[in-house]
Amino acid sequence: MRCSACPEPAIVDLPYRGGHLCSGHLRASVWERYRREMHRQLPGFGAGTVAVALSGGKDSSVALALAQRYFGRRPTVRLLAISVDEGIDGYRAATLEAARRLCRSLGVEQVVVRAERELGTTTDALARELAGTPPCSFCGVWRRQLLNRAARDAGADALVLGFNLDDLAQTVLMNLVHGDLDRLVRMAPHRRRQPGLVPRVAPLAQVPEREVFLYALAEGLPFDHGECPHAARAQRNRFRAIVWELEEAQPGTRQALLRTHERLVERWLATDGPGTPGRCRGCGEPASDELCRACEFRRRASPVGPEVAA
Ligand code: SF4
Ligand SMILES: [Zn+2]
Ligand SMILES: [Zn+2]
Repeated sequence: MRCSACPEPAIVDLPYRGGHLCSGHLRASVWERYRREMHRQLPGFGAGTVAVALSGGKDSSVALALAQRYFGRRPTVRLLAISVDEGIDGYRAATLEAARRLCRSLGVEQVVVRAERELGTTTDALARELAGTPPCSFCGVWRRQLLNRAARDAGADALVLGFNLDDLAQTVLMNLVHGDLDRLVRMAPHRRRQPGLVPRVAPLAQVPEREVFLYALAEGLPFDHGECPHAARAQRNRFRAIVWELEEAQPGTRQALLRTHERLVERWLATDGPGTPGRCRGCGEPASDELCRACEFRRRASPVGPEVAA
């Protein structure tokens, strides 16, 4: 199979838009989609601090490498990587090492936030205590919180996430199926700044997971290929399979799910707009209920629960 743009052999087909791409044209196309999304999601951003959530996996590694390319020539922009160590034996140490190597090779400053120190517990420990709860439900919640806090403490104006097209399409479908409109409209990318929350952007939103993977390989990025030992219990797996099946039957389904999300957010902004989040009584972070979800999980695990401020 030849590339649709040149005589080189193709390494990937793109059924959702027709055609095949060689390594060089895939890399150019990923960069173009990233650049366009960054421009759309962070319009007119020329000075300030941009934090990139970096796990050391392929998606966040590509997000950081491209952020460095996007912002690297602007002396007025400070780029910073934030990595979270949730405390997962046999997995996180290797991804953090890959993240450290990438930061060093790109010359990007890195901050590592440890759940054990910040929250007094780890994903492994809570997984043992809450044996009936899929670990991703609390791990994802407090990773988001720790990333937001670290980005806010660093004075970041935006937090770049490595979510690819598949991730976002799955999340849209999950929230629709759960009837969780609040969470659906709060998904990244954020259109408005909310108190205490660093706006999150997702510049890989138009790049399918497979293309992100091929890009990372083609660029020789030092990402980690390992899989979290808790991942098999993730609810997302079912949605991954459904979205993939729909995409195979009808190429373009993932983009359509993202468009659905965008249109819902536009309507919501034109009517209610986001309510101002309150503060968690346990930790002071933004929360829509008395306790944020991170504190809720910690309270479920321990009978005394998080200390609640008066
Ligand atoms: S797969 Fe689940 S438990 Fe593992 S790091 Fe991701 S969110 Fe955490
Ligand atoms: Zn080509
Ligand atoms: Zn809290």
